[in-house]
Amino acid sequence: MTCVACGYGEGMTRDKLKEYRRKRDTGRSGEPSGSGRERGGRGGARFVVQRHDASSLHFDVRLEVDGVLVSWAVPKGPSLDPSDKRLAHRTEDHPLDYADFEGRIDEGYGAGTVIVWDTGTYDNLTEDDGVDVPITEALEQGHLKVELHGEKLTGAFAFTHTRMGGDDTNWMMVKVDDAGADRRRRPTSTQNESVLTGRTNQDLESQ
Ligand code: MN
Repeated sequence: MTCVACGYGEGMTRDKLKEYRRKRDTGRSGEPSGSGRERGGRGGARFVVQRHDASSLHFDVRLEVDGVLVSWAVPKGPSLDPSDKRLAHRTEDHPLDYADFEGRIDEGYGAGTVIVWDTGTYDNLTEDDGVDVPITEALEQGHLKVELHGEKLTGAFAFTHTRMGGDDTNWMMVKVDDAGADRRRRPTSTQNESVLTGRTNQDLESQ
């Protein structure tokens, strides 16, 4: 089954990055082309959250799964408050190199600025009746629980495929109520800088 809107599903059988490449001219945009480094694990599955100031500001949440970055665009960004349900649109898989990408995309798909807002490793905590569920299966089943080890985001988050409004790309991202939960701290509003370079999206705009 392939989602017409985002290409989700194609990757199961064909080139997982086909949709990524179709949407952009990486030679012009300066984004990674995804040629090679995405093959082979480097120990510890990585996650990244990029703050993408495009036609509308959003946060791209990406998990390393099977050699690519499985991705969601979260308009309001992740919340540490377990009572916040954050809409997350599943988007095309991105190459692993993209996890370090910061820069200004001058024109075309995603034009705007991208910074690495948070990154680290994650653990898959997904279970079904007490049995561990591999992350690829969890994605197919539309429910996963992952523990993030980042600078701004820590603790477990649940991702659920809601298909809200009949849109197959619609998922929900919710903080699990654990030690990483915080009902007052709002990092998406108060901490706008890159964890890699200290730059903000505005810094990149004025370059
Ligand atoms: Mn984006």
